[in-house]
Amino acid sequence: MISVDRIYINGAFVRPHGTAEHAQINPATKVVIGRTLLGDAEDVDRAVAAARAAFPAFSRTDVAERQALLRRLHDAVQAREADLVRATMDEYGSPLKDTIARTRFAARAFLLARDTLETFAFERRIGRAVVRMEPLGVVGIITPWNANYTLLCSKLATAIAAGCTAVVKPSELSALQTNVLLECIHAAGLPAGVVNVVNGTGEVVGEAISGHPEIALISFTGSTRVGKRILQQASQTIKRVTLELGGKSANIILDDADLDRAIPLAVRIAFANSGQACVAGTRLLVPRSRLGEVRERLAREVAAVKVGDPWDEATTIGPLVSQTQYDRVQRYIHLGIDEGAKLLMGGPGHPPGLEHGHFVKPTVFENVSPDMTIAQEEIFGPVLCLMHYDTEEQAIDIANGTIYGLAAYVSGTDLPRARRVAARLVAGRVLINRAESSEPTAPFGGFKQSGLGREYGPFGLEGHLEPKAVMDDEGELP
Ligand code: NAD
Repeated sequence: MISVDRIYINGAFVRPHGTAEHAQINPATKVVIGRTLLGDAEDVDRAVAAARAAFPAFSRTDVAERQALLRRLHDAVQAREADLVRATMDEYGSPLKDTIARTRFAARAFLLARDTLETFAFERRIGRAVVRMEPLGVVGIITPWNANYTLLCSKLATAIAAGCTAVVKPSELSALQTNVLLECIHAAGLPAGVVNVVNGTGEVVGEAISGHPEIALISFTGSTRVGKRILQQASQTIKRVTLELGGKSANIILDDADLDRAIPLAVRIAFANSGQACVAGTRLLVPRSRLGEVRERLAREVAAVKVGDPWDEATTIGPLVSQTQYDRVQRYIHLGIDEGAKLLMGGPGHPPGLEHGHFVKPTVFENVSPDMTIAQEEIFGPVLCLMHYDTEEQAIDIANGTIYGLAAYVSGTDLPRARRVAARLVAGRVLINRAESSEPTAPFGGFKQSGLGREYGPFGLEGHLEPKAVMDDEGELP
């Protein structure tokens, strides 16, 4: 049993003022593996005061100094890869290979931000004006459990690259991994107050951050429901916001697609991160003429998916993170059946022999119509909706027919045609004939209720800066 009774303020580990506790439960076994002492609004005040005090000096550091810090953060996170992987797997249950890949990306995020600084123009000329891009101030960072320290690292990397200081609230379900990450941050030797971390619930610590008058920007990743609440809170002091929210992404199989390639990709796209991925392509749109072939391949592919012990290298779907998440997914599976969709694979309950953890059956519904709840709402588990279309136009309409617009996928052999379809999809990221991004510094974020603003690379950096236009009385450039 691990006890986490410390948070990180002004360069030091301190005991939180808050007294509430949270139990960390291993989702693969339902055994309590840790207890966390949570912070409260007073802890947030202390953290913000430290970040405020550090800001004037940190905002004036030059690019080379911040690049050196980013390098040190990369090295510190990389050095603890094994510990981060272990904590995440015990606490979150994501399969080994995925966890290692995400941990490597977490470390790399610091180098990517360092590289972005290489070419980023902090000073620009617009006619007779000089425009300086200035760091916004203290950033409030709030993360979800499905990619907790990966997002903490990428968000911190951007804040530091911009010259901002930060107050961080990790997911309360992720305290053990955060505890290791804090040791990495401490080892990197940042100036005191640049990064401050307060464990706590959304209702207490999250609300204290999003409503804090001394915080200039909220960088939030999580559900659309909480994103709306943060936007409301932020409006009180006109905070800037970067909101990375939910999704219900479509995967369009065009009629010329190579199904031997497209269907394994479709399964990976739908079930990545045990189905707990914001970018999961959970609506598979298939031409009616190829429905039979798709059903057959899909059934074969899903039957081969291994659900179970996340430490087993063959496992691709681990447990869901919590009982709440398990119940939520079960509710949607029952709802799909009640709405008239037909089960092709999976269904309610645990896979046989896996009743001891929050495991669910990889599930595929067919005969799903676009207006069904399971085709409209984010389920956040390994549940795929198979839908059919008659014309390309109809496929595009169905794909764009939700409140979300985070990601979209297209498979087809005629690339110019696939690109034409991609151009009409209302989504922040469209991948053609692939499951994963090929460019980690490309802007990431959503259209519509999938978010506001963009992360990563120059677009992410720009979101942490405010343009200031300077002109002098001679009208000449200084
Ligand atoms: P969530 O919205 O419930 O919680 C996210 C974070 O917000 C947690 O740290 C939580 O404690 C905090 N929070 C909760 N209530 C709050 C409040 N009132 N004020 C401030 N903070 C509050 O989301 P989750 O269940 O942790 O994560 C799953 C969701 O995250 C899914 O909807 C998923 O799509 C989304 N997500 C989006 C992206 C993206 O990049 N778009 C990436 C990962 C996850």
